[in-house]
Amino acid sequence: MPRQKKNSDAAARSSQLCLSCGMCCLGIFFFQENDPRQFGLELEKSARDDPPYPLTCPLYHNSACLIYDDPRRPSICRACQCQLLIKLLADEISLESGRQIVREIKTLLGAIKKRMPSLDKSRPFFFLVGEFWKLHQKDHSSAHRPDGPLLMDIAAVKSLVHRYILPFEGLDK
Ligand code: SF4
Ligand code: SF4
Repeated sequence: MPRQKKNSDAAARSSQLCLSCGMCCLGIFFFQENDPRQFGLELEKSARDDPPYPLTCPLYHNSACLIYDDPRRPSICRACQCQLLIKLLADEISLESGRQIVREIKTLLGAIKKRMPSLDKSRPFFFLVGEFWKLHQKDHSSAHRPDGPLLMDIAAVKSLVHRYILPFEGLDK
C-alpha cells in the first residue's frame, strides 16, 4: 500500500477510536480546561453543570468534541496518545479490538462512579479510583469496607488501564 494512503488510513482509524472513546476529554486521567467562549461558543449553563465526570472538558458535549475539526483545537488534544492508540497506529491491534477494550474500561468506570462515595471534583477520576483502592483494599473492618463487587470492578479497571492506556505520550505538548 502507498505510504501516504497507509498514513491517512491510520489517521482515520485513530480518529475513530478517539471519537468513540473520549476518555481524554472526560477528565478521567487529566483535566483540559478549555473555555468555550474562546471558540465563539456560549454553552447552556445546564450543559456545563452536569458533566459525565467532574473534570470533563467544557467543550465535550453529547459525547463529542464541539471543536474536533476546528484548526484551533488545542495541540495537546492532537498530540496526546495513550498506549492503545499507539498500538492501533502501529497496526498491532484492530480498530474493533481497540473499541472493545475502551468499551470495557468505560463500562467499569461508569459502574464504579455510581458506587463511589463522595467525589473530589478537583482531581481526575482515575486518580480518585486509585486513592479509594489504596485506602480500602486492606481495610477489613466490616463497618467501612466497600462492597466486594466494587473492589473487584476497581481491580479490573486498574488492570485494563495499566495494560492498555497508561502512560500517555504527548501530554507535555
Ligand atoms: S484514551 Fe486513548 S483512545 Fe481514548 S481518547 Fe484518549 S488517546 Fe484516544
Ligand atoms: S478540546 Fe475537544 S478534543 Fe480537546 S479535550 Fe476538549 S473536548 Fe476533548
